[in-house]
Amino acid sequence: MAGIYLHIPFCIRKCGYCDFYSITDLSLKDKFVDSLISEISSRKSEFNEEQISTIYFGGGTPSLLTKQNLISILDTIYQYIPKKSVNELTIEVNPDDITPEFLEELIEIGFNRISIGTQSFNDDILKMMNRRHDAKQAMKTVQLAQKKGFKNISIDLIYGVPDMSLTDWESSLNIAVSMNVQHISAYHLTFEKGTPFYSKLKKGELKEISDSDSVDQYQKLLEILNRSGFNDYEISNFAQNGCESQHNSGYWSGKNYFGFGPGAHSYKNNIRRWNISNLLKYIKNVGSYKSYFSNETLSEEDRFNELIMLGLRTRKGVDMNFLNDNFNSEIWNFFKKEYEIQKIKSNVFIDNGFLKVCENKRFITDQIISDFFKI
Ligand code: SF4
Repeated sequence: MAGIYLHIPFCIRKCGYCDFYSITDLSLKDKFVDSLISEISSRKSEFNEEQISTIYFGGGTPSLLTKQNLISILDTIYQYIPKKSVNELTIEVNPDDITPEFLEELIEIGFNRISIGTQSFNDDILKMMNRRHDAKQAMKTVQLAQKKGFKNISIDLIYGVPDMSLTDWESSLNIAVSMNVQHISAYHLTFEKGTPFYSKLKKGELKEISDSDSVDQYQKLLEILNRSGFNDYEISNFAQNGCESQHNSGYWSGKNYFGFGPGAHSYKNNIRRWNISNLLKYIKNVGSYKSYFSNETLSEEDRFNELIMLGLRTRKGVDMNFLNDNFNSEIWNFFKKEYEIQKIKSNVFIDNGFLKVCENKRFITDQIISDFFKI
């Protein structure tokens, strides 16, 4: 099983916290779609013998594409893989792009999962993040998607935002669970270099929230979502039974994936590849068959670190048998030593052959992961 990711690098305007590659000049949209199609065709031999079970349109803002754009891209992919092998076809959308007609078109094309960038249900916070929509519009989009027939809807939320109180967060969470969606992704805000938020942080115009507020907000997230029937199958991802994201689960379990478009990443047989994060250069170089990507072969340490990082963030945990069978004795011994240290701290435990983070230590998962890293 493997997945295909398509990066659509356009946004009407940039959100203050976001470091995903995208540009606000939409004039190159058609040229981009042609280049994307040409990249997919030129790399068909990488994926046409894989069993591709998920396709994910992310970005950027895939909802800025037209029905015809989406059909051309998918038709190209379906020339090389059987359409029926694709169980999950997801598109990310922004609430402000959505019309009833566009949702009908998405259903007609075959999208069976929609991920709506709601981010918050508090208008002041949305404004501060430079989002284009307000809370009402976000709620209306979710309801419209339900009305038009989407049965697998995911929404995004951000917490740990400066000046967001626990009550603000609780109120956004209560609205989120009242919407009867199947999946919620909730990420703690990080100040990424190069973003407007990062500059503001450096200038002292924004302040990070305290560690204890972060913990309180994370605990509130778990409390409300678990009580409402959402399973935290990954530290930032919550799903109703059977509605876990198959595409993201593929990333976390080390399956192959193929990313197309500027800035997209791919992974196959221990080789990681990433496309250039520059639309003009991407279009120019894909068209002329010049190199528009870099790649690296992961070392055994890299693979170990990646397995720990992705596995410990999930409820399923890290498969100990896989670790023992696939890594050399030096790494295995290093792992066993660190495991004993973490066990004494009551940070981790082994359940049915899988290493997991203890329930009351989930909020320090990143710290535990970095202790396990072999450098
Ligand atoms: S969060 Fe989404 S809409 Fe906002 S800049 Fe990033 S990709 Fe664009």
